[in-house]
Amino acid sequence: MPETPQRILVTGAAGYLASWIVEDLLRNGHTVHGTVRHLKDHSKIQHLTDLAARYPQRLLLFEADLLSEGSFDQAMQGCSVVIHTASPYFLDRPRDVEQQLIQPALGGTRNVLAAVKRTETIKRVVLTSSIAALYNDACDLSGVDGQTVQEGDVNPNTRKTHNPYAYSKTIAEQAAWEECRQQQRWDLVSMHPGAIFGPSLSKRPDATSVGMMMQFLNGTYRQGVPRLWLGLVDVRDAARAHVRAATLAEAHHRYIVVAESLRLLEIARLMRVREFGVEDKLPQAEVPKGLMWLMGPMVGLQRRYIARNVNFPVHFNNQRSQTELGVHYRAPAETLNDHIRQLVGDGLIRA
Ligand code: NAP
Repeated sequence: MPETPQRILVTGAAGYLASWIVEDLLRNGHTVHGTVRHLKDHSKIQHLTDLAARYPQRLLLFEADLLSEGSFDQAMQGCSVVIHTASPYFLDRPRDVEQQLIQPALGGTRNVLAAVKRTETIKRVVLTSSIAALYNDACDLSGVDGQTVQEGDVNPNTRKTHNPYAYSKTIAEQAAWEECRQQQRWDLVSMHPGAIFGPSLSKRPDATSVGMMMQFLNGTYRQGVPRLWLGLVDVRDAARAHVRAATLAEAHHRYIVVAESLRLLEIARLMRVREFGVEDKLPQAEVPKGLMWLMGPMVGLQRRYIARNVNFPVHFNNQRSQTELGVHYRAPAETLNDHIRQLVGDGLIRA
């Protein structure tokens, strides 16, 4: 059934996931207000300018920064829904965790919600959280039936010092629910995607998902990968889930957005590498945990992370996203190979 057209704000619109949310909204007849950090940064927003030309009058871009109070007020005017995706996503520990990660995630969410408070037309907020807000380390699931993460789970032992990204997502989501409980005008739906892959709408190489795929393809893991499980989802399906959460009146609470959980080696094997001429770059084996523990710090993995994640399976219950939001997940092989095709096509990796 066609969706009733609405005016929807997407924060961080030039990001990897948000760009597909914008595209999906436009394709389904909605009008989009997109915020970007710098309107003059053409290299970051060219793909949005192209979308604006394809959908005249239906994509309006505004400048806003998560760290700047009142920044989102103008962009929110006249909107009924806010999809808040903007938040730093990097897995490597930043130099200044507080300034680079916590403040934009937590302070930024509070800032956006303060603008929602001032904007009477907003009836729903969709927050892009993460599976990282549901569990911290795979070993947390070892006593759990099927090692399966559920939507009622809350990251039990998140800390700024260990996996600060998970900490940033956990406390930002908690703050959003607290804010939501203070009032009755708008409701909150929180989205929990796994590791997102799939073609990017832009040629930006700076998104962490794009960087991870490029590392796979440039030989970083040629010597082998740790036995780690990743909950994978296609960026186009994650975007669809957000749009359904924004536009379906019945959508509520939290949604796990994961197609399938696979080991890193299984992911490598799904890549049709011969077609792209990168077969010698991919891992062929798993590195034993003991060796991984020794080598970890040299390849940017903390020993505590290795101890608590390597060799521990983790799975995700994605039922509600399928039955309530109607998301049909693509097979991971399609996601991965479409992603490689885009990177080759855009000249970001050499075939
Ligand atoms: P991304 O491409 O790096 O997008 C992050 C966005 O946040 C960018 O648009 C960036 O703006 C914006 N941003 C960062 N700091 C900002 C600030 N101070 N003010 C305003 N905007 C700021 O990463 P992504 O993968 O699309 O991530 C989008 C969301 O999905 C994040 O909330 C992330 O935590 C969540 N998520 C991602 C994954 C994944 O695997 N990719 C999985 C689960 C959840 P610029 O465009 O100006 O850089």
